[in-house]
Amino acid sequence: MPPEAVRLHTEVVGIGQDDKSAHVLTAGGERLEADLVVAADGVRSTARQWLFGADQPLFSGTAAYRALLPAARAAPLDLPDYALWLGPDRHFVHYWVRRGELLNIVAVFRAEAGQESWTASAEPGEQMREFAGWDPRVLTLLGHAGQMFRYGLYTRAPLVRWNVGRVTLLGDSAHAMVPFQAQGAAQALLDAVVLGDSLEDASPAEVPAALDRYVARRIGSTTRVQAGSARAGEDYHLPDGPAARARNARMASYTAENRFGPHATVWAADILAEETPS
Ligand SMILES: Cc1cc2nc3c(=O)[nH]c(=O)nc-3n(C[C@H](O)[C@H](O)[C@H](O)COP(=O)(O)OP(=O)(O)OC[C@H]3O[C@@H](n4cnc5c(N)ncnc54)[C@H](O)[C@@H]3O)c2cc1C
Repeated sequence: MPPEAVRLHTEVVGIGQDDKSAHVLTAGGERLEADLVVAADGVRSTARQWLFGADQPLFSGTAAYRALLPAARAAPLDLPDYALWLGPDRHFVHYWVRRGELLNIVAVFRAEAGQESWTASAEPGEQMREFAGWDPRVLTLLGHAGQMFRYGLYTRAPLVRWNVGRVTLLGDSAHAMVPFQAQGAAQALLDAVVLGDSLEDASPAEVPAALDRYVARRIGSTTRVQAGSARAGEDYHLPDGPAARARNARMASYTAENRFGPHATVWAADILAEETPS
């Protein structure tokens, strides 16, 4: 892409369209015109509000601490590539990133509705109290993270359409979900692949119909992944008891080839072949 194709630090304050083109208005007073506008403006999307009205982000009842630890700090624990620790009302995930230089840790816990901001500094040591009594390896990792940020986890209700004329949503603006199948960004990228494919042979006049095709190919599966991610949270956070023991037995039966059990079905083998217009 030519360098001028990417504009950083440019707030969009309005979107408009007519029969022939669409445009965005920037906070700096510019009007940028194109055949279409794709609003990938996240879970707090204002484009979604402009297109479809005032539905708001929904608090999931959960929040997360996140951190990246240098490999040297985690190395003595001899951790696997990926691990998921489960307990009542909480779960803890870690995996290596950047070719093993950093360990990503995410600690999810139940949080009070109404009190949760989007991001806030946790109090010093807060994460240690939240996970008190967990495995020493979990506590060691949380201790190494020092002061952490806590992220309230928000979702959006599924929509029946994402597009109006030459303007469409993509990614979290269309289908924000809880991150319990690690799918939000992945599904946004799949949206982009199918959007590109749907637009491939479209003339400017055919853009609205191409956007209809894009949405028809994606909306059913993203709605299913949103619901599956919420269900995964319920499963992960079961109280101790028979249901949790049954879950543990089911997970223990996953094989080395299928470490993620039924969650593996969210990974389409060939998104373009599988997702045909309905
Ligand atoms: C704790 C946690 C763990 C996660 N783990 C995973 C994971 O393992 N795997 C995975 O696939 N996903 C994961 N996700 C989800 C993932 O982060 C999101 O699904 C993804 O970032 C969505 O991408 P997006 O481009 O739609 O929106 P965003 O990444 O939110 O980007 C939206 C962008 O739009 C900009 N913007 C907003 N309004 C305007 C405006 N008016 N003008 C100009 N710019 C604007 C914002 O500044 C932002 O840069 C996780 C999320 C959380 C909270």
